[in-house]
Amino acid sequence: MQLQKLIVATGNLHKLREIRGIFSETEVISAAEAGFEEDTPETGGTFEENALIKARAASRALGLPALADDSGLCVDALGGAPGVYSARYAGGHGNDKANREKLLRELSDIANRRARFRCAVALCFPGGKEIIATGETCGEILREEQGKNGFGYDCLFFSDDLQKSFAEATAEEKNAVSHRGRALSALKEKLARLREE
Ligand code: IMP
Repeated sequence: MQLQKLIVATGNLHKLREIRGIFSETEVISAAEAGFEEDTPETGGTFEENALIKARAASRALGLPALADDSGLCVDALGGAPGVYSARYAGGHGNDKANREKLLRELSDIANRRARFRCAVALCFPGGKEIIATGETCGEILREEQGKNGFGYDCLFFSDDLQKSFAEATAEEKNAVSHRGRALSALKEKLARLREE
């Protein structure tokens, strides 16, 4: 199965850049650029369900293969929260600063700072075929922000692999160990196996 053009159902430029880096031999365009502007509600209870909901909607609307990711931060001491609610942890959608402040408040008296970023990516084809892959990266939640790069919870996440916060890492360093980088690599391997069939 040869993938010439791939639609990515995201409005997040950070994610789009990472996906373009990994699918470098494919023309990657955002769903909005392809004419699908709809913001599909994330009504699933898992990262996998939400990724599938978004990828299916874009693929069906455009009649092209479409990829979507859903990701978030899961903190052990909070029973896996904020999880699928990571983007809207403090209320409004996508207020990164308020989300980080809430996380620091919730963990203020807690010694166990273990956490992981998780990501699911789904690739849906107009014929109905669907491929899903997941990725995870582990670390600790810092007591104060460290570093200026990245987005979301990056400046509070001290990576086991990098031994620094994600916001202190370059984009290449982060992509090599990140939940999204790992999920996309796994998806690419699954796709390559399909092409061989
Ligand atoms: P999504 O767009 O529904 O997948 O929302 C994911 C949310 O999880 C983002 O708004 C961030 O708060 C958080 N998140 C996901 N991936 C990352 C990452 O790589 N770094 C920092 N925060 C992330």
